[in-house]
Amino acid sequence: MHDSYRQAFGRPEDDGLAAMASDLFGDTTAPEGAVAPELALVHVVQGLEAVAAVEAALREDDPFAVAFLDIRMPPGIDGKETAARIRALDPDINLVIVTGFSDFAPAEIFRAAGPADKIFYIAKPFDAIEVVQTATALAHRWQLDRELAATRAELADKVVQLEAQALELAANASKAAHLAAHDPLTEAPNRVAFLRALGERVREPGCFAVATLDLDRFKLINDTFGHSAGDEVIRAICALLSEQIGEDGLVARLAGDEFGMMLSVTGEDEAVMRCERLLRVCSGTLRIFGQSVQNSASIGLVVADAEQERDPIDIMRRADLALNEAKDAGRGLVRLFDARMDESVQFRRQIETGLTRAISNGELSLVFQPIFMGDELELVGFEALSRWCSPEHGMISPAMFIPVAEESALIHELGDWAVGEALEAVKRWPGQYVSVNFSPRQFRRQNFVAQLVAQAQRAGVSPSQLQIEITEGALAEDAERAADTLYRLRQMGFRVAIDDFGTGYSSLYNIRAFPIDTLKIDRSFIDGMGRERESAAIVHSIIQLGRALGLEVVAEGVETRTQLDALLQAGCSQVQGYYLSQPLVAEDAAALAAGGTIADPQAPCEPASAGPGAGMMG
Ligand code: C2E
Ligand code: CA
Ligand code: CA
Repeated sequence: MHDSYRQAFGRPEDDGLAAMASDLFGDTTAPEGAVAPELALVHVVQGLEAVAAVEAALREDDPFAVAFLDIRMPPGIDGKETAARIRALDPDINLVIVTGFSDFAPAEIFRAAGPADKIFYIAKPFDAIEVVQTATALAHRWQLDRELAATRAELADKVVQLEAQALELAANASKAAHLAAHDPLTEAPNRVAFLRALGERVREPGCFAVATLDLDRFKLINDTFGHSAGDEVIRAICALLSEQIGEDGLVARLAGDEFGMMLSVTGEDEAVMRCERLLRVCSGTLRIFGQSVQNSASIGLVVADAEQERDPIDIMRRADLALNEAKDAGRGLVRLFDARMDESVQFRRQIETGLTRAISNGELSLVFQPIFMGDELELVGFEALSRWCSPEHGMISPAMFIPVAEESALIHELGDWAVGEALEAVKRWPGQYVSVNFSPRQFRRQNFVAQLVAQAQRAGVSPSQLQIEITEGALAEDAERAADTLYRLRQMGFRVAIDDFGTGYSSLYNIRAFPIDTLKIDRSFIDGMGRERESAAIVHSIIQLGRALGLEVVAEGVETRTQLDALLQAGCSQVQGYYLSQPLVAEDAAALAAGGTIADPQAPCEPASAGPGAGMMG
């Protein structure tokens, strides 16, 4: 038997094998490796040795592909037992049972050493070629199976990896989606998510409300307690709102200290009531980092009921308008949107667009209100006041369009124009000054002084003939910079007046810090002089303060003889008002300045509602 095997698997130089090879391939020189050269043969005599060899091979990680086993063996274990033990060690090995018919019991062997596709039989007596072919074929298959198994294992690994990656991607995607729709500070939905929800809600039936809530003076909390305390307030308010709104509503953080809410309501009354409750909840004292932080908020409210009121962007716009009104009306309030809010915004917008064209179209002009000095009422100057005669709206008061211009860079264009016109006018007067109004934004403009110097030079007017009127508001924001601007203005020779004095925040004491020439007492005090003791007292102390500081004091809005007498007696140096003269068109002002008389001194140059004794718009 063993000889037969040896012959079958012998090395190529074995004579017998070479002969067999030439038999097989009909070639005299056996091609190298023709007879399973990749097969390495180990052969043993007893089953126990075979089992040990298999075990050793497995340990070396160099397992066998095929084992040829005889059923009968020398004393030890028989072929069937050997097969069973080998199979127990190596599930992949192919077993070939070499058997005579007498001891052939396939079912038993299969039970002991299955599976069936790894057990083969060769009947004795066998042909060497039979063994070689079987061995080669089985080894080949075994090799392929191993490679396949390795590839499969590799693939399985890849699949596991891919699944992990897919999970991670999915987690990232949902994290990104969450981030895109939520505010990181409060974890509440953000503006994008709120608008999306609103877009869905408007398509559903039923009445609902949108409220925008803004914390009052939140900047102060940030400034006083620090930003992390501010963050804490935002979080706390958001939690309170969410708790109040409950499951059927939505709370979102729209921006810094602004929240948006959506709630189902039966109508306006319920909406207002619920919003007032929300305000109560947010108002009062919060404990933040052991500190008491005082809070209040304002709410703008829109109730969307009718079909035509269901455009999401428009709902938000109306809620914001209502919120602005709530804040303007004193904060801590709920304001329900109403159509008038829209009209005033539209009017402002019309003014803004109209004003852009007004300058180039020559719709603006200046009028000049005379200013007189001393008991002799000598004419010393004029205040330049803007007028806008609009083709659509007629005469529009500066009290209306100046604040609109102030909200944009338009104020600079308007201001440059006014200074230019005023300088042209003053050139025609023999010695009077012109006093021009400047809004805080103009006063804070870069190169404000240099610009004025250039304009005066271009017009050939001495700076001493131009008085700059600013309000206390212009000095409030950055006092140091304001003082520097004033200093440079006076250094260049311009005169500076504080307009509407007494209505701002600066105390009489503070004003000493600023280099100025003139105080203009606000006309509300002049108006009150005859009626209230306080007004008279304020007027007197302003006059005294002015004299003590060596300033000119101008009383504006003088409407009666009594007021004039009282003011002159109190020591007021200059006066201005309807009692003395209305603002005049440039021609009349020039005539008056030259010592002549005015064609019709009562011709009103005032916007519609104004006239002697009448209050101005705004
Ligand atoms: P203001 O500087 O306080 O100007 C005085 C306002 O009082 C003027 O109103 C004037 O016409 C009015 N007035 C004068 N005498 C009397 C009087 O006896 N009784 C009453 N009731 N009113 C009197 P006006 O022209 O409507 O100007 C309103 C405000 O608009 C001005 O208040 C000024 O702050 C601003 N303004 C006017 N023109 C300009 C400008 O060219 N540039 C800037 N920045 N602001 C301007
Ligand atoms: Ca003024
Ligand atoms: Ca004034």
